[in-house]
Amino acid sequence: MDPYESFTALLASYPSPRIACIVGAGLSAGSGLSTFRGENGMYKDIDPMLLASRWGFSNDPLTVWTWYRDRIAKVLSTTPNPGHLALVELERLGVLHKIITQNVDGLHLQAGQSAEKLVEIHGSLSRTHCFEECGREFTIESVPEEVPVMCECGSYQRPSVVFFGEAITFSFYTLVDEIERDVDILLLIGTSGTVVPVSQIPYAVRGSTKIININPDPKTFAGITDISFEGKAEEVLPRLVEIISASLES
Ligand code: NAD
Ligand code: ZN
Repeated sequence: MDPYESFTALLASYPSPRIACIVGAGLSAGSGLSTFRGENGMYKDIDPMLLASRWGFSNDPLTVWTWYRDRIAKVLSTTPNPGHLALVELERLGVLHKIITQNVDGLHLQAGQSAEKLVEIHGSLSRTHCFEECGREFTIESVPEEVPVMCECGSYQRPSVVFFGEAITFSFYTLVDEIERDVDILLLIGTSGTVVPVSQIPYAVRGSTKIININPDPKTFAGITDISFEGKAEEVLPRLVEIISASLES
């Protein structure tokens, strides 16, 4: 069966669906940002542990900051795509419970998503804080002129993104409980499902939530997916939101 028809049929069982999303780098691919892995992945030629770990940072803050400065510059010159805008529309329709995004590019907020609907589970490139945890936090509004960026305490600032080996600041179990209790449909959008613990959430909630996967290469979650859209988020999401909007009107 055509997945769009399956989706329309599914919505017939949920007159006011409660929808959550788990988002990965694939959503921002349509805005021109590289995904993590894959052919043009950003770690293709470089060991991620050197760039995105506490050890790598203290070992060579200049190299790490130079890499982040390039990412910040890229992100600041990037705009949301129709996939991000479709998620904003989902919120406007009143059916969006929450977006758990692994993306650190800030494009959801730039698209107009409310902060209270968004869990930036891996942090954001638009913020930094003190590497030595002196408590100071900063907002990045332009590309830093000099790197490494210093903190007022004499240490370095570091990007407020979760490095490898660091714990996420959100409780996995709280998120799972909340989805089990408050969500009917979980959309997996452009995520390879390789980064724990986020990748475990769909497995934990599949008994109580319908799982929809949107990915040109949807193999990861194949065993637990109720409907799979083998396509690009920026093309599939606007169509799904149209279908949801029509079903709310009927
Ligand atoms: P990933 O790179 O591991 O996987 C990306 C997935 O997106 C792949 O499965 C790919 O098939 C799919 N994809 C590619 N183009 C797509 C499109 N147009 N529409 C839909 N899907 C598409 O990314 P991940 O699962 O998010 O996990 C990796 C980590 O990468 C996260 O920790 C995240 O913090 C970090 N990251 C963030 C950004 C960003 O903020 N934009 C970019 C790269 C990596
Ligand atoms: Zn400090």
